[in-house]
Amino acid sequence: MLKSHSRKTLLSAAGASVTCLALLLLLAQRQRSATEGARREREVGLRSLQSLGEAGTEDGIQSEQAGGKRGFSAYFSKLTRNRREAEKPGGAAGATSSPPPAENISADDIFIAVKTTKKFHKSRLELLLDTWISRNVQQTYIFTDGEDEELKKKMGSHVINTNCSAAHSRQALSCKMAVEYDKFIESGNKWFCHVDDDNYVNMKTLVQLLSQYPHTQDMYIGKPSLDRPIEATERLGDNKMRPVNFWFATGGAGFCVSRGLALKMSPWASGGHFMNTAEKIRLPDDCTIGYIIESVLGVPLTRSNLFHSHLENLQQVSRSEVHKQITLSYGMFENKRNIINMKGAFSVEEDPSRFKSVHCLLNPDTPWCPPQVAY
Ligand code: UDP
Ligand code: MN
Repeated sequence: MLKSHSRKTLLSAAGASVTCLALLLLLAQRQRSATEGARREREVGLRSLQSLGEAGTEDGIQSEQAGGKRGFSAYFSKLTRNRREAEKPGGAAGATSSPPPAENISADDIFIAVKTTKKFHKSRLELLLDTWISRNVQQTYIFTDGEDEELKKKMGSHVINTNCSAAHSRQALSCKMAVEYDKFIESGNKWFCHVDDDNYVNMKTLVQLLSQYPHTQDMYIGKPSLDRPIEATERLGDNKMRPVNFWFATGGAGFCVSRGLALKMSPWASGGHFMNTAEKIRLPDDCTIGYIIESVLGVPLTRSNLFHSHLENLQQVSRSEVHKQITLSYGMFENKRNIINMKGAFSVEEDPSRFKSVHCLLNPDTPWCPPQVAY
């Protein structure tokens, strides 16, 4: 009796343990597949960026959509189209013989942010004020870090003292970019374009390029300075990190973002968020823009060869195509001048950046341009 009772107890206990074990196994399995799923999702996200990079290194280009074969082929055919446009004599992606505009925009729809610092007001900014800015005061906003009464007289409320530090540090540059972003959102303009104070902007070709895209679409346009995506480490909190790869448009060549996309960037870019995002990847301001757009939002960079920084060899800008470019720059490389090669109204001694000569080429009616110069 006792024996059979204890056997029963033993049996039911064994049965219960088996059920418990099965339940535990089932739960563990579910848990595993859930974490596995999340891991796979993360990996796919990451891989898609890596494959973007791999596709990109071949030709210096990347996919239209993060991952997805259709995205790739769509992007490649678009790119081939763009390249064909660029190769056409007298045409380039966004220049003279471009496709019919997607939207009829004018210069007034563009917000151009010029990043500068007080020590460059005289040596760099003045040249811009005398050249391209003089024709585009309405669209141009100067972001600096110190008061300048003379500059205020010329630009009025279009000079913004960001109160950011005047250092060339990552934090100081991100602080300025954060103010640029907020001011653009406040302006209600259709396009945000950022340039440095060593950039010449050809507004006519810029308007032509941006007219090809509706400003409500997600657009990030510029030129990468690297031939592959940048490899960064994202800090996730709790001392966790993960590698991220993404393309970014170099700030020194200038880049543009459509309003549609800029609004989507808000949770990572508005108010103090931009600085926090920049801290997460510990890279400069232009990289942070690329990170938010490509890595977080999954919107790929659209390349344009019409933007130029002094990180590239500016001698390679063809003499006869200077007027088709959107931005130009100047600088030093290995103790040599890195400037575009053009005969113009002024000699290199008179006009070391070549910006005055470019300006006279584009705007021969400017009072200080020598009359009827044969270039
Ligand atoms: N800049 C700045 N603070 C500084 C130094 C530079 O805001 O302390 C700005 C400068 O006005 C320019 C941009 O950062 O618009 C890039 O500076 P620079 O051309 O000297 O350096 P690069 O990065 O092009 O070599
Ligand atoms: Mn520069």
